[in-house]
Amino acid sequence: MPPILANYYLTYKCNSRCTYCDIPVKPENIAIKESQPETIIENLAALKRLGVKVLDFTGGEPLIYRYLPEVLQAAKSMGFFVSVANTGTLYPRLAKELVGLIDDLKFSLSTTDRGEYKAERGIDGYDKVIESLKLARSLGERPSIIATATPESIWGMEPVIRLAQDLGVVVLLGPVFEFCGNELLHRDGIRELQRLSRFDNVCVNWAFLEFYLNGGNQVKSPRCRAVSSTIVISPDDHLLLPCYHMHDERLKISHENGRSNLDELWLSAPVQQKRKEEGSWDFCQGCTIWCYFETSFLWPPDQYFLLNMKSKLRWGKEKAKQYVEARTGLNLTRKLPGSKDKSVVKLPANPIRGVNQAGGCGTCPSAGGSAATESAGELVTPVEFSRKM
Ligand code: SF4
Ligand code: SF4
Repeated sequence: MPPILANYYLTYKCNSRCTYCDIPVKPENIAIKESQPETIIENLAALKRLGVKVLDFTGGEPLIYRYLPEVLQAAKSMGFFVSVANTGTLYPRLAKELVGLIDDLKFSLSTTDRGEYKAERGIDGYDKVIESLKLARSLGERPSIIATATPESIWGMEPVIRLAQDLGVVVLLGPVFEFCGNELLHRDGIRELQRLSRFDNVCVNWAFLEFYLNGGNQVKSPRCRAVSSTIVISPDDHLLLPCYHMHDERLKISHENGRSNLDELWLSAPVQQKRKEEGSWDFCQGCTIWCYFETSFLWPPDQYFLLNMKSKLRWGKEKAKQYVEARTGLNLTRKLPGSKDKSVVKLPANPIRGVNQAGGCGTCPSAGGSAATESAGELVTPVEFSRKM
């Protein structure tokens, strides 16, 4: 099977300083210069020749890359499915230029509390992200929120879900992975993600949650297909192996007469040897770097493959709902999470009830405050929720 995805790092620069990421501050990254758009477009043609279907333009903050619209235009004209995850803090100034160029537009947001946002990301960006989400919707885009759950933020995800429901967008919830010495989610945090996954507008990757609970990649029987499935390119035009986060090899891509040799490089013997060894190095033990597992789970078929497919179907359903709601004005979202879902109603910490009474989250400033005054079984309406926001 050919590689499916390219993780294209356009820049390592970023205007945020997230507590769980060293990309913009790593000394060797600071010195790296971004490629010219012609170089990137030649690489896109090589990726096309290899059979890659999905391009994920990433960083750093990809919106910092000066020639982003030009590159996205080329990617769309070549027929790629294009994904861009960004902070949402720079989007408003570029929004009009980007309309129609991104199939999967994601804004990172893990809290509805401005102070917590700043503590996690190092900048006062919360209002800008909300502005970006509304602006993207008004321009006819179908954006998503991507929320990284840390051991602290996981217990404040219900307001994020409510926010996504109010804005009519999907929220992708995923656990933080081990990188820069992060503390991982504990078992109860993963169980919380599984519980939250039942609510409207929420998507998780159930395969990945199971994988996380099972201890991640095991070097004796690797589940990782990072090299087989995903091509990783650095801002300064190198193929990174085996993955961005643990790359121990950087192979320079050559360009001659307007043609990139990226495809020949990927098919070369040394890279194919790496491919045979993927997931088996010492540093791969227990790996949960989810960027590579969504595609890794596409082969070979096993329980993760099936759960991954189920997650994709859910994502497709939620995005279709978002599309229909935007086009018709119909309200298909159960604004009170789980209100029509018996299995969810049975859950002890159902957010339609007073949160504190249910023994749930104590970090949520809006729902927690209201819970104290609500009688058991009283519902918080979307309007009330918006006022509390
Ligand atoms: S926004 Fe992304 S690249 Fe920037 S610091 Fe945060 S995690 Fe890292
Ligand atoms: S297991 Fe993790 S660290 Fe090892 S190659 Fe795969 S993604 Fe990279």
